[in-house]
Order: sequence, then C-alpha cells, then structure tokens
Amino acid sequence: MEELVEDWSNWNPMALDYSNENLNKYIDEAGQNAVEKARAPLKPSEMFKKNAAKKNATEYPYLILKKKVNLITYSVANFFGPKHVHKIDLQPNSELFKVFFKDLGSLESALSQLEVFPHLMELHRVGGQEKSKSEYMPMRRPGNKVPDSPKLPAILPTARGQIDLKSRTIYFSENTNKHPEFLVIPIVDSSCYKSGSLLAIQDVKKRYLNVKFEFNLERHGAYVLEQQYEKETGAKPVIQQLRCGRILYRNADVDDEDVNLGKDDDKEILMSGFEKCVNCQSYTMIVCKICEMPFCGAMCWSILSEQHDQKCGTDQKVEFKEENFMKLFPKSGLPPPRSMVKITAFEQSNVLYVRPADVVSDVAYHRVLSEVWKHSRNVPKLDQPPVCGQIVLYKFEGQVVRAMVLNVDNPKDICVVCIDFGTVEYTDPGKLYKCSDYLSSLPRYATPVKLRGVPTRGLTPHLRDAMYEVQTDMVFEIRYHSREYDYGNHLQTAVLIHRENNRALNSFIKKVMTAVEPDLHKLGFKEDFLPHVAAPPGKNIDLIITDNSFLKVGIIYCTPAILAVEITKMQRTFQDYGENIAKAKTYAAPKGELCMAKYMGKWCRGVSMELVGDGYPSILFLDYGNIVPIHVTDIRAYPEQFTYPVLTTEYVLMDLPEELTDAQAKRLEKHLEVGAIVTVDEIVKNEENNYSLRIEGLQKLLS
Ligand SMILES: [Zn+2]
Ligand SMILES: [Zn+2]
Repeated sequence: MEELVEDWSNWNPMALDYSNENLNKYIDEAGQNAVEKARAPLKPSEMFKKNAAKKNATEYPYLILKKKVNLITYSVANFFGPKHVHKIDLQPNSELFKVFFKDLGSLESALSQLEVFPHLMELHRVGGQEKSKSEYMPMRRPGNKVPDSPKLPAILPTARGQIDLKSRTIYFSENTNKHPEFLVIPIVDSSCYKSGSLLAIQDVKKRYLNVKFEFNLERHGAYVLEQQYEKETGAKPVIQQLRCGRILYRNADVDDEDVNLGKDDDKEILMSGFEKCVNCQSYTMIVCKICEMPFCGAMCWSILSEQHDQKCGTDQKVEFKEENFMKLFPKSGLPPPRSMVKITAFEQSNVLYVRPADVVSDVAYHRVLSEVWKHSRNVPKLDQPPVCGQIVLYKFEGQVVRAMVLNVDNPKDICVVCIDFGTVEYTDPGKLYKCSDYLSSLPRYATPVKLRGVPTRGLTPHLRDAMYEVQTDMVFEIRYHSREYDYGNHLQTAVLIHRENNRALNSFIKKVMTAVEPDLHKLGFKEDFLPHVAAPPGKNIDLIITDNSFLKVGIIYCTPAILAVEITKMQRTFQDYGENIAKAKTYAAPKGELCMAKYMGKWCRGVSMELVGDGYPSILFLDYGNIVPIHVTDIRAYPEQFTYPVLTTEYVLMDLPEELTDAQAKRLEKHLEVGAIVTVDEIVKNEENNYSLRIEGLQKLLS
C-alpha cells in the first residue's frame, strides 16, 4: 500500500497497457471473429516484458492485477462480470496476473469497478509509456475536484485519469458552454386571484394556480411531423380521435400490448326479467304489485309517489317527467368515494378530470352538453377582449363547449380550460363566444383529481398514447379519503380502480412513465429509437441556439423556439433518473448507443460517439448538440421509457466559407450565442434529410 501511495502522483491510466480503439480492431461488426482473432497467451517469460507485449500487439485489451488469492480465476470473472472477461492468464510463479477483456467498453467498466472496490483487486501499475502531463490539453470540468490529501487510498472511488483528447477522431466541443435552460411560465399566478377578480370568484379553491399545459408538442404539430416522417418511411397514419381543438393522427399499426385495461363493451347487455325505472331509467326488478309500475328504490319512489297515487289502479300509466328526473341529478363537484366515474381529460401525468358515471349522472352530464349545444346557435362573439376567469363558449371543429379563460397575456393566443372536460387549450379569440347566465349556471361535473403515487413528469409519446387509450369510455371506481386532500395543489388525491379487471389506473400510468434502469448486459438503444422533430422547412422561423461549439466547421444546433421549454421539462425527468433511479456506478456506453450522461451537474441524454480507452467516451448531447468527453462514472444506461422526441437539429449554416479562421469563429460564436433566439431567414431540408439554414448578414460578420 505504502508504495502505491508514493507513486500516486505519477499514476496515469494511459500507462495501463491496453490497446487503443484506433490501433486495434479486435472485434468485427458482427462480433463473430473476435474469438478467432484471440491470440494464445504469451509465454510466462515474456508475459510482463512491456516491449515484447507491445510488439505482439495483443488483440484484446487487458489489465494487469496483483494476486491476492491463489484460486482467483472464477472470482475475478464474477467480479468484472463474466460477459466482459475474455480470458484470465494466471502465472503460477508470478504475483501478477492478466485479465483480457472482450472490448474497450468492458475494460472501462472493469476499471470503474476497480475504482469502486479498490481493496478487492489491486491494479499493478506498469511504468513507462506515459505521456507527460503537458501533452494533454486541459479540459475544464467544474465540480471535478482534484484530490489533494496526502493520505490517498490506492485508487479513489471517483478517481479519473487524464482525458486523452489526441486519440479522438470525432470533433468535440472545445468551449464549455452551459446547456441553456428554458423558463416554464405558469399559466395562472397568484396575482390572477386578487380579491374581486373574476377568477377568484369562479375558482374559489384556486385549483388553476397549478394548471399546466402538457400538450405543447401535440399542439405545435410535433406528433404530426413525426407522423409525416413515418409516412415517408411507409407507415400510414390514420385520424384517430378528436381532441378539443385538434385532430390527432395516429399510426394504424400501433402496438397496444401495453394497454391491458380493456374497454367497455358497447353492446347493451340483455337484461331479461328487468324493467326500467319510470323515473331514472335504470334496470330494476321492483314493480308496484297493483299497476306494475317499475321503480328502482326509495329515492325514485318518493319522486314518483304523487303521480303514482293518482294513477295506480286506473288505466293511466305513470309517465316519465323530466323535471322529476332532474331532481336526481348530482350537484357539481367530486362524487362521493367509491362512486363510478369516467375520465373526461388528462391534464398532467398525475392530474386528470373525472365525472360521475352512474346512469343518472350520465344523463345529467349529457344534458349539460346538449343544453350548451342548443343555446349556442346564435350567440354573439365576445365584444370585449376576454378576461381571466370569464366563462365563455368555445367553438371549434363544429363543436361548442363551455370554457373558462385562464390566460390572456397574448391577446391572439388565449388559454382556456374546457370546464365540462378539463382540457386546457390555446385558441384564437375569434373562436370564443358569449356564454349566457343560464348556461354558466349549469352544474359542472368534470372535477380534477390527483392520482395517488404517480409523479409529475413530462408527457412522453408513450405516456400520451396510454392516456388516449384510457380516455375512452372506461368506468372506474374512485377511492379517496378527504384527509388525503392535497392543499398545496388544491386537488383531491385519489385512486381509480378499473371496474372490470380491478386494476388501479394509478399503477398502470406509473408503470408506463417510470424509467427503469435497463439490464446492463442487454443491447442498448441506437439513436433511431427516438423520433426526431425538426422545425419544418420554410422562411422566417424562430429558433433557439442550443450549441455553437462547432461553428468553426459551419455547424450549429438549434431547437424551435416554441418547443424549447420541453427540453427543460425532459431534463428534470432525466435528473431524477440519474440521481435517484439508476443504481449502476458506471456505464461505458458502447459506440453509437444512447445513454444518460451528467454534464455540469445536469443529467442529459446523449449518444456515445467514440471510446478511446481513457475512461471518457465522447458523448453527443442530443438535446443540445455539444460533444464532450464524459467519465464513465457520470454515464448511465438509457431506459426504454424515455421516448421524448429529439427537438434539437443539426443545421449546416449556408453561405459560409469552407474554413473559418479562429477569429471569425469567435465572432460568429458571439453573435450566435447559446440560448439566444434567432429568426432564421430560411430552413432547407435536402434529400438525405439533412437541414441547412440561412441567416442574412453572416458574411458581413466575417469580413
Ligand atoms: Zn329509479
Ligand atoms: Zn301502483
């Protein structure tokens, strides 16, 4: 140990005698020839002669370890993972042995494993072949402390070697720009509730203080673009559902395997021996023994009794009377615990709207909708700009619904909530009409609830699909206790149990959305696992610059300005995964595979571009565009639940000279700053699906 501590300062992982990806191709594409290429172990006498080993150019990367136990073979293989170890060379008369790994990724993960458990296996450091430190370009990595304590253990759990930048064949970002963050502005803030305001009157519980609009990607056609892409690649989209305000496109051959909740059968059940209650129309076996009038129970009996007493025993029949029936209608608000409910809308991953679903409530609910419809034919448009909290009629696609105005900051883009559903929409004020006092006074049955145990997350396409599957005609039993009321968000916390299969919707939603760390031995995902959404080709488009570190080669990364906040929402979910869910201490992402990587303290997703054997794979951050060597201890495997589309696109800047001088690049960088909004004059897409953009006046900056 003492000896190891002494030579710590000279230690450099590059001194480890393992091969470099660029020098040795030890595995072919199919992974087939690797075994054939394996060389016989060297003779013991030659084993640790560095020069001899070098001349032989070993095909597998290896580590030299100190023996601690004699019977070590199997425990070593298990320690590093049998899938990583190609071969172990034990030398009977040596205190050292050699472990060959299948590839560089395996070796890097082994190295990290050693860093975590320094006392189980000791690395033998081979001298020589070191590059002097000055040869390495320093890479500023804030937060990465260099240990300065004189009493260092053999290998620190977090020890990182120098980054080998010279062996990299792929460009990396030389500047260390922070990833831009985008502010999510709340739709409603507390100033909207100042006393006397319409919203304070309409929304006494201040429920809409927490309202969110999670359908931004859908609204701006991101999924339609995605569909266009699928169209180009062969799959035909079909119009599936009409969501308030928009037509949804959906792939015809979407796999619904994950949705096990089933659907209500539309066919009416044959109810032999039952008759319909004269008042509420629900099935019953109770009839008056004299006149055979069917009724369902005491409640309906009390409503019918006056009419019945006059007609019973005569030839007249008791008639259905609407005003009597309406006495049974439920009041606005959440139905009591254990009632049957239907879902009218999803607002957030864990907030949805329900309405009572028993027969009477069903009729009552549809009566409200039809009253709105009946009384909206000749209503006038708003003569004043809408104000926050105002109840209006919202007409779209041949439908009319009641809505409450939530945000008027942009007079051309009004945010409303459809109060009989719960859907939040942005609309042109021309689609808003006056709502009469009568229509405003009708009960509101759609009530928000918060799903117990389901976290707040951005909507992935996967989760969105699951929600639309559920949002049909399923009946749930709602279970809640008033002491579980969420006072912070002004919502009742509840569990919804699907009536037919007794499964909780909560756990279904949670399962769909919660990221699970994948089995590290399984094949990872490639970049094409994720849908890509680019701003459509056209003129005068607002983009936000997410990376400018490749301006020197004429490349810039941007995201459509209207979608940028989605990147920040995703990042919050990624942060939770990196900090709380992924348990592996290290992950050497194989080349070309997706991974999660930490950059300046933030977990982001990326794709591994290159491994050079120094423990720092080059990671391209997909949502931003920079490429940075990231230490394997800051990388985790990519979970399949993260299906958020990639919104950031690589653009070639048009009309630039082929080579830029450093000074020109600097000037461009200053002009095209990360996080800045630029209105680009034109976006062009070429046949290979690559994008270029034109910004007027760039040449002027260069001269
Ligand atoms: Zn009845
Ligand atoms: Zn009777």
